[in-house]
Amino acid sequence: MSFRRWFTASILAFAATHPAHAETDPHSYAQPGVVSVRALDLELEVDFNQRELAGTAELALDWHDDAARSLVLDTRDLVIERIEAAAADGTTTAAKFTLDERDAIFGSALRIALDKAEPVVRIHYRTQPIASGLQWMTPAQTASRKHPFMFSQSQAIHARSWVPLQDTPAVRFTYTARIKAPKGLRVIMSADNDVAHALNGDFRFEMKQPIPSYLLAIAVGELAVRKTGPRTAVYAEPAVVTRAAREFADTEAMIAATESLYGPYRWDRYDILVLPASFPFGGMENPRVTFATPTIIAGDKSLVGLIAHELAHSWSGNLVTNANAQHMWLNEGFTTYVENRIVEAVYGKDVATMQLVVDDQELRSELADMTPNEQRLVTDLTGIDPDDGLTGVPYDKGRWFLRFLESRYGRDAFDPFVRAWFDQHAFQSVVTTDFLAFYERELASRHPGKVGLAELDEWLHGIGVPANAPVAHSARFDIVDKAAADFLAGKLAAKKIPARNWVTYEWLRFINALPEKPTVDQMKALDQAWKLTGTGNGEVAFRWYVATVRAGYADARPQIATFIQRIGRRKLILPIYEALAKTDEGKQFAIGVFEKAKAGYHPLTRGSVAKVLGIKD
Ligand SMILES: [Zn+2]
Repeated sequence: MSFRRWFTASILAFAATHPAHAETDPHSYAQPGVVSVRALDLELEVDFNQRELAGTAELALDWHDDAARSLVLDTRDLVIERIEAAAADGTTTAAKFTLDERDAIFGSALRIALDKAEPVVRIHYRTQPIASGLQWMTPAQTASRKHPFMFSQSQAIHARSWVPLQDTPAVRFTYTARIKAPKGLRVIMSADNDVAHALNGDFRFEMKQPIPSYLLAIAVGELAVRKTGPRTAVYAEPAVVTRAAREFADTEAMIAATESLYGPYRWDRYDILVLPASFPFGGMENPRVTFATPTIIAGDKSLVGLIAHELAHSWSGNLVTNANAQHMWLNEGFTTYVENRIVEAVYGKDVATMQLVVDDQELRSELADMTPNEQRLVTDLTGIDPDDGLTGVPYDKGRWFLRFLESRYGRDAFDPFVRAWFDQHAFQSVVTTDFLAFYERELASRHPGKVGLAELDEWLHGIGVPANAPVAHSARFDIVDKAAADFLAGKLAAKKIPARNWVTYEWLRFINALPEKPTVDQMKALDQAWKLTGTGNGEVAFRWYVATVRAGYADARPQIATFIQRIGRRKLILPIYEALAKTDEGKQFAIGVFEKAKAGYHPLTRGSVAKVLGIKD
């Protein structure tokens, strides 16, 4: 069905008859309209030798169709041993099941046949070493090199590779877990972690707030902990934890700033788990404990905007959740908007504005290479791997749309509107029509004439950036722009660039101002003056390395190799691989590095890089 047609019909009438769960999730075999999982109980043993989790998943079910006899779950590469159904009186009976043929994107539907609509189903199963949602690391891949490490990444649809469940964000459930792991290691879950827990190999967890499956998370490894505030702590490998705790010292201030804008933090604790550098993302907003890449520990808090982003998800995404990935802007656009508001509250308007300008500029150049469907906020992802839909559109175009609304209505009206959106949809899954109905009722009808329907339509369903988009302006960037222009024109020596006190965003602006093909002499002069090759700041590093590749500045190659072998965060390394792949020589170099690096990469990163290089992983 065309979203455009939905919109031009009456938004309110439509939304009233089409609640979020009525829209089918194209990425799940589950049938939540028939039966939905209310609670999950996991009992798993972590086996590093076999690289498997083995045990049981018990699902408590709410049947919405009493005549139904079949429970369909999502799985990928799970070994299902046996299944029992438990009646209300506790008696169990074996249940018959079939596992569909494996689909490369969606995995295998697990079809469980029941005699009647039983309240509980228990599945005995084990994962396989290739589980797409788990990364098993050898001791050599950790900082201390002493113990193995394992962590999960369930978003977008990888929870099904380690737990049989309804892997759709349209369904929310609470969970409990008992995890057995080697003594001396710590187990962390997206649940009630206890900073004082004994490392006795036996961990129990409870998550009492209902979450969608993609927020199910586990990590096991040699993890130390430092408290950073009354409800915040940092977990990390012992060699990293002190630096990490210092970098994330402002977390409590960020929570307080967000609460004053958008209402109480509803997840009790907010801890941060710093993973080994192979973590494929910047951060993952697992509730109560954000999983984060160590590449944001720059030493000067300049990259903690990422923590603001993951924290913002505690409101947008974790609390109010897109019901399927086609409405991802409701998670990521809101979160990127809230992130910028947190940065403004904690680090000031100057820094927040620089972030906006850089992100707006980079979105525009990203859009230039996209298909029309990819450019739309509300997309059709039927048959498409949701991991491939990860572009700047739901993030920065979504954020820009909300800034557009903010600019038209003013913060006095818009801030309470956003807060009410979170309050009134807390622990619910939503689609774009829910947002439009709420917008119509709570904002548009109270302040008529501020935004036209055609304008809304263009933001949600149009391509590119609408002409009415508010333009952010940073006076500090005017100075950077002038320095870049003068340097490129040969009027300003590299060492005279006034960059002594630049923050990260000023460097990003400067590097983005370099032409498609800077000269080797220009790159060499910049490098000698400012030591950009080898910088510890990942955001500066990847943009600089891309520029060196375009310029043909070979001096940076050894450091590029080190960077892309050490780090597995896709955002930081894929652009470098892409730039290298544009020439035969660069591609050969890239393939050589990838062959050495891939054993340490997460499966998601491996797949993405192999695709860029056009080789089989
Ligand atoms: Zn996010």
